[in-house]
Amino acid sequence: MDEAARRHELHREMRAAGFRPDRAASNVHLFVGERRTAGRNVAISIGFLDLEFTRLPVAKLLDPDREAPDVVAHLDNCGGLCFARHGDVVLDRYDIQGSVQLCVRLVDQGLERTLTHKRLQDEVAQEFQQHWDGATFFYDLQTEAAHLAWFTKLPDDVWALRRSGPLPQRLGGPKSVKKKNKENAVVISVNSELTFQHGQGRPETLAEFLAFCESGGYANRSEVVRLVTDGRALKEFVFLHAPNGCVGIRIMPSDVQRRSGFRPVTPIDRVKTRPETCEVTRLSGSAADLPHIFERNMHDQKPLTATNITLIGCGTIGSHLAKMLVQSGAGHLGGRLLLVDNQSLAPGNIGRHYLGPIHIGAPKAEALKSELQRCFPDCEIIAVSNEALGAVGMYNKDDLVIDATGEEALAIALNDHLFGGQAARLHVALFGNGAAAQALLVDGDEYACYRCLKTIDGKQWRYDPMKPGNAPEERAAACGEGNFIPYAVAAPSMAAGVALRLALDWRSGDPSRRLRTLQIDKKLASNIDDKNPKKLKDCPACEAYRVRTV
Ligand SMILES: [Zn+2]
Repeated sequence: MDEAARRHELHREMRAAGFRPDRAASNVHLFVGERRTAGRNVAISIGFLDLEFTRLPVAKLLDPDREAPDVVAHLDNCGGLCFARHGDVVLDRYDIQGSVQLCVRLVDQGLERTLTHKRLQDEVAQEFQQHWDGATFFYDLQTEAAHLAWFTKLPDDVWALRRSGPLPQRLGGPKSVKKKNKENAVVISVNSELTFQHGQGRPETLAEFLAFCESGGYANRSEVVRLVTDGRALKEFVFLHAPNGCVGIRIMPSDVQRRSGFRPVTPIDRVKTRPETCEVTRLSGSAADLPHIFERNMHDQKPLTATNITLIGCGTIGSHLAKMLVQSGAGHLGGRLLLVDNQSLAPGNIGRHYLGPIHIGAPKAEALKSELQRCFPDCEIIAVSNEALGAVGMYNKDDLVIDATGEEALAIALNDHLFGGQAARLHVALFGNGAAAQALLVDGDEYACYRCLKTIDGKQWRYDPMKPGNAPEERAAACGEGNFIPYAVAAPSMAAGVALRLALDWRSGDPSRRLRTLQIDKKLASNIDDKNPKKLKDCPACEAYRVRTV
């Protein structure tokens, strides 16, 4: 269907739904009409941004001042109606009739919900920062609940709110902050959720802000005035920090002409005596504290914060995995990440490794540490450029030790050294040119150890994902780089993903199933269901441990 046909069909369907085109709009396909909602007729417009149908249309009240004079959930301050979330609703350019009907139905439901004020305060509270409709700032208020704070201007017109201590690098500190860019601010901690009451608009003056604070029970008027006027200069920035977010205002007392014979009116006087004459601009916060950063994508899982983790092997799998671990909170909030690798980055690694060519020749563990800390400056990382077994004492009391070397002999030795200790062990490796990935978690004595996965004679892998006759192809590489198994970056990053999921499940207390196999190349590898692998009868590693502890 060409563009003209799509336009024709869009117009036909919108007319059928009771709308007429508004020819005045130049860039959008705009339609206006009346909807029967909340017991009355409400004039709205629906504008399709283009004929590609990749974006939801924009619905607006034509007369928001009359229909919804106050703040109403799902309504922005220009009358725009939030009727669905982009991504939740998929329009189909091959089914314009269905797409139009879907949008009109959602708009009708959204209008009804919005204009009948159903659950208004709860809905406003859920996205209060948007409803406050202020300029964006970032905040990290994790420290003690003091009233005084710094509001700091950073490059790119970014503002950051902190109670005390130097501004962390994550928020642009500490080097880039000039003293003149630090403003005194007052933060008021609020235990209940911020929301608007029925009939309440966004504050435009200090008097309205004080009324907002008092009507919601967030702070009393005289307390706010006392905090901002305490001291010689007025504290222009005031913030409310609540469980559902942080918003603020900047107080702007207008200049008052000095009348002869009178004492000049100071900003503090105006705030105290004429708050209705002090305009405010509003500020809407975006949380930038570490718990928020690491928890927001976790849903019901726990992040890897506050955990001691060792990653042995910073090669193709390990380098991608290290980044994923840090991204999931490893090394943060009291945890630390130990990286162990005794090799340096070679040119031949680049196509599969996380690190780029600027690190060629550098020890992998050190280079990975510096690269990760460049992006995650709060991360506690230790790099050890030694052979893994020589450093066992540094990590045998960790919470989790991950072996991403893919070297069976080393894995077997690690399995022996860490057997029965407090560290959970996670092994991850690729099979056959990257045709399959497998990860095993050993977190106790109930299921298989690493060596249990091989037969007694050590010649066969019990859960080998490779189809028979598909031995990995080894190619002679240039001198000095050893033999390498050729596969692109896809396979090691997929293997790292399997290992990360297992680590997150372990952290959340539900690592089952402990042996996970990912079939990457379906021609070469077969499917193995995830399982908790049983111990091997007479496993030499389990047996050696039993003898040691008897
Ligand atoms: Zn065993």
